[in-house]
Amino acid sequence: QKNERESMMVLSEYAGHFFSKNLNETDEGKSVGLGYFRSRGFRDDIIEKFQLGYSPEQRDALTQEALRQGYKLEYLEKTGLTVVRDNYQADRFRGRVMFPIHSLAGKVIAFGGRILKNDKKTAKYLNSPESEIYHKSRVLYGIYHAKQEITRQDRCYLVEGYTDVLAFHQSGISNVVASSGTALTSDQIRLIARFTKNITIIYDGDPAGLKASLRGIDLVLAEGMNVKILLLPDGEDPDSFAKERNDEQLTQYIEQHQQDFIKFKTSLLLEEAQNDPIKKAQLIQDIVRSISIIPDSITRSVYVKECSTLLKVDERVLMQETGKLQRKKQ
Ligand code: ATP
Ligand code: MN
Ligand code: MN
Ligand code: MN
Repeated sequence: QKNERESMMVLSEYAGHFFSKNLNETDEGKSVGLGYFRSRGFRDDIIEKFQLGYSPEQRDALTQEALRQGYKLEYLEKTGLTVVRDNYQADRFRGRVMFPIHSLAGKVIAFGGRILKNDKKTAKYLNSPESEIYHKSRVLYGIYHAKQEITRQDRCYLVEGYTDVLAFHQSGISNVVASSGTALTSDQIRLIARFTKNITIIYDGDPAGLKASLRGIDLVLAEGMNVKILLLPDGEDPDSFAKERNDEQLTQYIEQHQQDFIKFKTSLLLEEAQNDPIKKAQLIQDIVRSISIIPDSITRSVYVKECSTLLKVDERVLMQETGKLQRKKQ
């Protein structure tokens, strides 16, 4: 329903203002929220650009204020900003720094909220629930602020989290979006495809990040796009990595270390297989499987050639195997 969506968008916009006003103008917001962002090294221009905010540590500060302003409880509930029980209503986000999530057109459609102190008991991030205006699997954090530069650079950097996006912008790189912790989807890749066919995946330098990168590769390939991978040093994520480097250093590092998927997979798997022929055969099959996902046959054959050189396997054999997998899919 159009009216319902519209009302939810207007309310989300209002909530965005509420949170950012709280961050910038209240004592609690300034000391706790702004203090937090500053302690992490985020500059004011970035805080402003992304409309970062703070949700007060009270049961229903936003709900009360929104109702006073004439917003309806119905939409507060539908956007997930308010949690409604029988005779009880409370703000979903309390005592968190807030990251508004913008649509492609720049409208606030949802929020992510982070706790201030890492404790194991509370989930670090809390996100708005799925709603009429927010479909997690179709949204990328930062796309609105990135789209122009993605087109200009003809490349999109894909990172994991909110703060990774912020840190890249702060280092002067703005063609960057985040999948925000949810597993990457084809819809998200198609969103990027509207601006470029080239993606570089820069996930966290931990086992989870590596696993997600490998999964991401096949998804990007399936959309007929080109994918490079940048593996960060162990324990680093794009945020921590970018913070230690200026614009030039960061760009240079990325350009020198991002690897085409085939080189990335080969070196990764060769490292694992060492000189074990069985493992080596498995890894070749794994790479062949990735190649067979590529929709375009010319691109496929280019990669087969590359793979044959890198792994010293007969090109015809590789071609045959990709062909088999292709037929299986049809
Ligand atoms: P920070 O630097 O603030 O600690 P991060 O982005 O490095 O955050 P990660 O643990 O690497 O945090 O997670 C990556 C992303 O996954 C987050 O930015 C967030 O979007 C999402 N995420 C992480 N933990 C949760 C959670 N408990 N619930 C929902 N989403 C989460
Ligand atoms: Mn991680
Ligand atoms: Mn991280
Ligand atoms: Mn981080």
